[in-house]
Amino acid sequence: MRRLDTDVLILGSGGAGLFAALHAHRADPSLDITVAVKGLLGKCGCTRMVQGGYNVALAKEDSVERHFMDTIEGGKWLPDQELAWMLVTLAVERIRELENELGCFFDRNPDGTVHQKAFAGQTFDRTVHKGDLTGIEIINRLAEQVWARRIRRLEDHRAVELLKTRSGDALAGVLMIDMHTGEYVLVRAKAVLLATGGGPTMYRYHTPSGDKSCDGLAMALRAGLPLRDMEMVQFHPTGLLAGTHTRMTGTVLEEGLRGAGGHLLNGAKERFMPRYDPLAERATRDFVSRAMVTEMRRGALSPNGGLYISMAHLGPERVARDFKGMVERCADCGFDLAGGLVEVVPTAHYLMGGVEFAPDCSTALPGLFVAGEDAGGVHGANRLGGNGVANSTVFGAVAGDTMAAWVRDEGVLAEPDPAALDAAIARCEPPAASTHGGLESLRERLYGVMWDKVGVIRDRAGLAAALGELAQLDAELAATGVAGAERAFNLSWHDWLNLRSLAQVSRSIATAALARENSRGAHYREDFPDAGALERSAYSSLRLEGERFALEMKPVAFTRVKPGETLL
Ligand SMILES: Cc1cc2nc3c(=O)[nH]c(=O)nc-3n(C[C@H](O)[C@H](O)[C@H](O)COP(=O)(O)OP(=O)(O)OC[C@H]3O[C@@H](n4cnc5c(N)ncnc54)[C@H](O)[C@@H]3O)c2cc1C
Repeated sequence: MRRLDTDVLILGSGGAGLFAALHAHRADPSLDITVAVKGLLGKCGCTRMVQGGYNVALAKEDSVERHFMDTIEGGKWLPDQELAWMLVTLAVERIRELENELGCFFDRNPDGTVHQKAFAGQTFDRTVHKGDLTGIEIINRLAEQVWARRIRRLEDHRAVELLKTRSGDALAGVLMIDMHTGEYVLVRAKAVLLATGGGPTMYRYHTPSGDKSCDGLAMALRAGLPLRDMEMVQFHPTGLLAGTHTRMTGTVLEEGLRGAGGHLLNGAKERFMPRYDPLAERATRDFVSRAMVTEMRRGALSPNGGLYISMAHLGPERVARDFKGMVERCADCGFDLAGGLVEVVPTAHYLMGGVEFAPDCSTALPGLFVAGEDAGGVHGANRLGGNGVANSTVFGAVAGDTMAAWVRDEGVLAEPDPAALDAAIARCEPPAASTHGGLESLRERLYGVMWDKVGVIRDRAGLAAALGELAQLDAELAATGVAGAERAFNLSWHDWLNLRSLAQVSRSIATAALARENSRGAHYREDFPDAGALERSAYSSLRLEGERFALEMKPVAFTRVKPGETLL
């Protein structure tokens, strides 16, 4: 087995991973830092896909208190208030760093101030952007800065297990697979950052990049770490629905279409949103997604089984001018967004849940740190559009600073428990007998269970049935072989590993969803439609004990503001 020792190992090269690398390097340029990533650095993950932009209170009329209140109220009083406060205050520093030190160009007003646009759920227009390709600007500049420094890159290297020391009370390193050769690689590190970006790709319709399969969360579960808010899966209302033959199905048609006055129509081509909410199509993501699924259940469906968005009443020329990228994306799939109808369906977009962590990004396992979408607690029951990339950059930077100090004060290179290493390798080995073609049908079953029973609208019977089906699916997956003995770039093998992570994390989502007997933000229970008392808000915290999940509902600490109060 190839072996490598490093001071700081960063898993993932999104906004969280790259910011962590730059900050750790700045804190101590002599550190040996390694960024290991499942794809190519700068080319994978969801930060690159960010279209809309980055929330930050910059304008004189805005304030961090207002951004904080929007985040708490948007999160239905479930966010950890100290983490949310760090998000809104440190976003101001990070956006300056992105512009003035790292070289990002964001759109500006004629008077030279940074242009900030409106996003849903905010009481102030505070979303900084670069046209509608903000993520490419951020990731390209971060990647260039990482390339320019003495930071090691392990590209196409996939983390598969967190390895503890023999005593089990600290992290020793990570088992990885070099996807080029198929060899196992053992990386020992004094500090490890989990920044693999969550990503709810277990749903039939989903937006995140294909490299994301919840590997980080699955590794954290197997390491015995607590995950919070796992029932909170955000659905974006307008996923493109273009049939099963194209990967474009599920990708986002941006919120600005509804914001500009777009109408949602059912299969009978009737507008339905005004029947559900006075704000109609401009209601928040969770509300519109729920109304759409309710309408779909009534039975009037588009040819691919969804609904339509219609923009033509706004004037095809205006639509073509204002939404050029979206019009082209739809045209590629045979739809005329400017003058006709485009099929849409709600699509799984973001996991608010993740590993429980302290404000310095440390976790319950000494030596392991977490940041970005893998980390839970910042957003509570809902993530505001624009708070995702702010979250990954803010906490990535904090993690980089913390890990540099940790390596200096407490870092040791330890040997992993040999039995745990053997067990981790055995877990990655599919059975020898190949049931060729089995993975596709297992994937379709996973998509179906999660979409139908753990999706936008949930109830006890569906969730209980889903847990049974997921356990069965997990067992069948473990017994399914993959095609081809060759390990170099064996994508079937990686698909098998992806599905194993997704199945495990899906079970945690269904478990938490069954435990939450109320409806908050993204989590809606038909059998418990009320939000429950806000002053007794509790968050779900679960961990894997053997094969079973142990779950507790823990009270939210209102450390800065209580329900009914405001900081404004
Ligand atoms: C289409 C789309 C549009 C979005 N638009 C916005 C927006 O406008 N504003 C906003 O705030 N947020 C937006 N988001 C959300 C935002 O992208 C995320 O919140 C944020 O980028 C997550 O950053 P991250 O660093 O945690 O993860 P990512 O940027 O996703 O990076 C994860 C990294 O981990 C790597 N990885 C995964 N598994 C492994 C493994 N096993 N081993 C090694 N590496 C691994 C991946 O390859 C990747 O490099 C959008 C998301 C999508 C999908």
